[in-house]
Amino acid sequence: MQPIQLDDWNFMWINGEQVRLPESTDVINPATGQAVGQVPRGGEEITRRAIDAASQAFPAWSKLTPMQRAGYLHDWADRVLADRENLALLLSVEQGKPLDEARGEIEGVAVFIRWNAEEGKRATGEIIPAVRPDQRLLVFRQAVGVVGLITPANFPAAILATKAAPALAAGCTFVLKPAEQTPMIAIALMQHLMETNLPAGVANLVTGDADAIGRTLSADPRVRKISFTGSTEVGKILMRQAADNVKRLTLELGGNAPVIVFPDADLDKAVDAIMANKFENCGQVCNGINRIYVHADIHQELVAKLADKIRQLKVSSGTEPGCQIGAMIDSNYLAKVEALVSDAVGKGAKLITGGSRLTGGSYGGGYFYQPTLLDGVTPEMELTKKEIFGPVAPVQSFTDEAEVLRQSNNTSYGLAGYVFTRDTARIFRMIDGMEVGNLAINGTSLAYPQAPFGGVKESGIGRVGGRQGLEEYLELKYVALTHE
Ligand code: NAP
Repeated sequence: MQPIQLDDWNFMWINGEQVRLPESTDVINPATGQAVGQVPRGGEEITRRAIDAASQAFPAWSKLTPMQRAGYLHDWADRVLADRENLALLLSVEQGKPLDEARGEIEGVAVFIRWNAEEGKRATGEIIPAVRPDQRLLVFRQAVGVVGLITPANFPAAILATKAAPALAAGCTFVLKPAEQTPMIAIALMQHLMETNLPAGVANLVTGDADAIGRTLSADPRVRKISFTGSTEVGKILMRQAADNVKRLTLELGGNAPVIVFPDADLDKAVDAIMANKFENCGQVCNGINRIYVHADIHQELVAKLADKIRQLKVSSGTEPGCQIGAMIDSNYLAKVEALVSDAVGKGAKLITGGSRLTGGSYGGGYFYQPTLLDGVTPEMELTKKEIFGPVAPVQSFTDEAEVLRQSNNTSYGLAGYVFTRDTARIFRMIDGMEVGNLAINGTSLAYPQAPFGGVKESGIGRVGGRQGLEEYLELKYVALTHE
């Protein structure tokens, strides 16, 4: 197996080959603000070449048996695991997350690939009882075709796997476009996929001009589907573009997750779970908690416990031992968090701890923000309405269950929600009432390969994970067969 290098990822994968271009873009280490590598700057022409390759490879790949395709996928997972330390380092350096989190993400990639390798074997059809004795009504499940996969910068390895693995298991071929901040981990994961001797053209990767690549994938009728994970804003652009040739879409978009802590909750358990969710990946998580509603009776206690834990978090370069909070992905994310905190404080929020970026010394030119706790947050503040996507925990107080449910649903997003209570009747009222695609009760862990993760409202269409995640890459073909 080729060991992963940090220095040369300046190529794309087209038709099984490394393709270099004259123009490239720097990849920045967010912990230093310095370039750590370069990737090619492609656009329309190279994307068309990638679609050509994927479309030529599709007939043969889709005709392999699911067992044969699973063989490639398990081989890929083995290679990823064998190289996990290098891959985790590359991910941490390029994206900013702590090395431990990066290692967990790479291990998750392998788990996701394996789960889909096996689920592909269960893409069974149906025989429906017919109304005539000379007929059989059959339902087949067939691969959608060539798919475009567009991934974001926050979990660039895991989200690649959540798309590439079911696509390959179902028999689709793909053209992948990673985020500009985190392309190298995608190119590296693809290298391991190529080492399985995957047939040329089955998996292709392009980097560069997002708008040009997105338009080319959308406009080409050979691309039968786009699976996108990223902001709601870009999701809407792709949805409009896809309308022109009625392309299938899976959209995993932004969130504004509420957590509601009722007075009967196990408070210590709630605090630990909120900390684990809110500060994972420096708060840059789609299902990350964006609003904390706590009952007035336990409000002060919860704020004190959170403040105590937040003050102890170690912020450093992701590769430094003991790092708990790394750098933010880029300066734009950081500027957005600064603006949201400043708006909240200006409108009367109380800053309990944190509240500014970290500079100087070991923070150098990196994009670091202090883990922050705000109390007295109100619905008028921008961070209540928008996705914070940073290490900021905003607390609001409530007294009435119906009113807090109304407030928690008062957003165009509907990705995730969290509730802490021991009252069974209330649990069911929350399950019925919360407008989210994913709900965790008395915990904050949600995303697993076997579960259908996805959003409602403007948080998306379709699901990732579970048998439903594989279905996203399969079309139904119904056949009415008349015989003698
Ligand atoms: P983003 O800015 O929307 O970018 C996501 C991807 O879309 C990148 O590869 C980006 O390329 C590409 N892109 C940008 N403009 C495009 C266009 N016009 N046509 C086609 N592609 C285009 O999102 P991000 O900042 O990387 O990720 C954060 C967002 O993703 C948050 O809103 C988060 O909640 C969401 N997210 C959702 C889930 C979920 O499961 N629901 C999971 C993770 C993240 P460039 O980087 O080259 O611009």
